[in-house]
Amino acid sequence: MPRSFFIQEISMAHSEQQNTSRRSLLKRTAGLSALAMTGIAGFSLPAVSFAAALSKEQRDNMTPDEVIASLKAGNQRFRAGKMLQHDYLAQKRASQKGQYPSAVILSCIDSRAPAEILLDAGIGETFNSRVAGNVENDDILGSMEFACALAGAKLVLVMGHTSCGAVKGAIANAELGNLTGLLNKIKPAIAATRYDGERSASNYDFVDAVARTNVQMTLQDIRRRSSVLNKLEQEGKIKIVGALYHLVGGKVEFLA
Ligand SMILES: [Zn+2]
Repeated sequence: MPRSFFIQEISMAHSEQQNTSRRSLLKRTAGLSALAMTGIAGFSLPAVSFAAALSKEQRDNMTPDEVIASLKAGNQRFRAGKMLQHDYLAQKRASQKGQYPSAVILSCIDSRAPAEILLDAGIGETFNSRVAGNVENDDILGSMEFACALAGAKLVLVMGHTSCGAVKGAIANAELGNLTGLLNKIKPAIAATRYDGERSASNYDFVDAVARTNVQMTLQDIRRRSSVLNKLEQEGKIKIVGALYHLVGGKVEFLA
């Protein structure tokens, strides 16, 4: 399973970390033996896996489909409340001389939709760009091209979410400073959304339908506007996919 690539027992000493001696013991077989020798009856080891930063070899050996599978597995852990124990200091140390993220993610600024947490990813695993309404622009396209063509990421993931305030604002024709121009970039998704019910910002079912269309249109725009990414996808080196995060339930639904 791809995700197992990420899961490694961190057995090095953590000088920077304020580990209790108990936690250090738990991480090593030797520690378990020591516990056994001290005769702690009925002690059960929690099912703990420590997540390490991706190595170049681990990332390079993954296919785009395996990256998708690993992100899906991460979201399943998040939903089940069984996230990996991210030792951020160990991940920081492991990645300080180089980074080998498997994916670049474009998602909304919404405080309820932090991609790394929803996908149970740690330091060094994903490139992230966030803008209200997860629409691309020249600078984001350039960032994605860097991530895939130069830094070796295998997946471009555009992740919208339900109850998106930016989508809602676009439907309501909200106007405010620079926000007006940003919302204008979402508006084509409104017209392109087939919906028989009430097409208003107060109908969250419609708002979510537009959010879904908006993700699909961002994917189309990325392919159309970035010959670099389009070529990488045509060659099978990367995949460009969309997803919708459901605030209720926590599922990251990958779109076909
Ligand atoms: Zn949003």
